[in-house]
Amino acid sequence: MYDLIVVGGGPAGATCARRAALGGLDVLLLDRSVYPRQKPCGGALSPRVSQTLDFDIAPVVDRDIRAIGIHTPSGRGFAVARRGLTVNMVTRSRFDHYLLHMAEDAGVEVVQDAQVVGIERTRDAMRVLCLGDSHRSHILIGADGVNSIVARATGIRHSWPSDRVGLCISADVPMDPSEIQRITMIPEEGNEPAMHIYFGATSWGYAWCFPKRNNISIGVGCRMDRLTDLRREWTRFIGRLEADAGVEISLPRTNVHRVPLGPPRWKLVTPRTMLVGDAAGLASPITGEGIFYGVSSGLLAADTAVETVKTRSLKLILTYEQKIWNLLKPEFDVLRFVAEKLYGSKRTLETVCNVAAADQIVRDLIVDLVIGAKPPQSVKNRLLKQMLIHHPLQAIKIGLG
Ligand SMILES: Cc1cc2nc3c(=O)[nH]c(=O)nc-3n(C[C@H](O)[C@H](O)[C@H](O)COP(=O)(O)OP(=O)(O)OC[C@H]3O[C@@H](n4cnc5c(N)ncnc54)[C@H](O)[C@@H]3O)c2cc1C
Repeated sequence: MYDLIVVGGGPAGATCARRAALGGLDVLLLDRSVYPRQKPCGGALSPRVSQTLDFDIAPVVDRDIRAIGIHTPSGRGFAVARRGLTVNMVTRSRFDHYLLHMAEDAGVEVVQDAQVVGIERTRDAMRVLCLGDSHRSHILIGADGVNSIVARATGIRHSWPSDRVGLCISADVPMDPSEIQRITMIPEEGNEPAMHIYFGATSWGYAWCFPKRNNISIGVGCRMDRLTDLRREWTRFIGRLEADAGVEISLPRTNVHRVPLGPPRWKLVTPRTMLVGDAAGLASPITGEGIFYGVSSGLLAADTAVETVKTRSLKLILTYEQKIWNLLKPEFDVLRFVAEKLYGSKRTLETVCNVAAADQIVRDLIVDLVIGAKPPQSVKNRLLKQMLIHHPLQAIKIGLG
């Protein structure tokens, strides 16, 4: 019997399993995929990811990005750049494989190609049923992504409310590095490749074009309850990129993927189970960024598991939910508030973009919020104050007055 079984070897599961093994637990990690596996993702890591991990991720960073091109719904553009602000771009197949290696090096037993099909709770353990096999542990962690079987089988969550999940279509398009530089650089920010975000490409969300080493990640994502026709928006976006950049983008048929946009009820535990990462719903309601939240919740769950095993007190597992609530609920409340205002309509989006383009303070505050650089409530208060004092008409238009 293991101390801990982690289902899912993405960023949340791999960092969680590693931390628990380093804390002395006997850990089994099960993943249905064989690594390196594909994971649809923009692959943009906010600075908090490398700051949170206790090992160097430089070997798997494709590029460091220092400028972001924002495209407003009406097609105007402006750049966001700040001294010292760097976004790490990764290719998920390489990044996730690296994290899994780090977990194995720390002593985690990793079993790939192991699809979990059921979970049972016995008197003194959790039993995890795989196709053709089963394993037992004192504690179970569900790190199995947005469609988590652990969440469903333990009764923590059966489905997503449509305002807490987004749908995305994305693709990695192979491209020569010089071509990547040509089509993504923002001349006034130097000649390095930049990330680009296109607001208004969909009704509640955005489209993106992110430069990697030998490809660009492009995609479009929309909150599910505001969905109109994502495939049409995707096709229109590709057409726009082709026209703007003077390139032809040929794509295989792409699938639609889900991304959570915040935990619906913040119910994340049962007496022997904890959910982390996407399985817990922990991705930003504004951007869909989830890797940082996966890593930080994974670490918190691992520490809770280590304490629980050391003290033999199962009650400690319940404290994980409270710790996540304390750590992330205030941030998610602010992100959700801003998302509601921002994506309210194309008109409000245009207004916010125009204010941000003209006002460095507003721009900096929005960046602080998105990358979690400062306490969210104080950023929100300063943002509201700046809007009401310096942009009162726009504040009324957005519904802040
Ligand atoms: C199109 C798109 C673009 C995105 N772009 C970004 C971005 O640029 N930056 C960012 O920070 N976030 C981004 N995200 C969100 C990010 O991808 C997720 O938040 C992140 O992957 C969550 O990590 P995780 O470890 O919780 O789950 P995952 O990475 O989904 O890993 C879950 C693992 O569980 C395994 N698994 C699932 N079911 C089972 C089962 N039954 N049995 C065994 N194993 C199982 C899977 O094989 C998988 O390896 C994006 C998401 C999408 C959809």
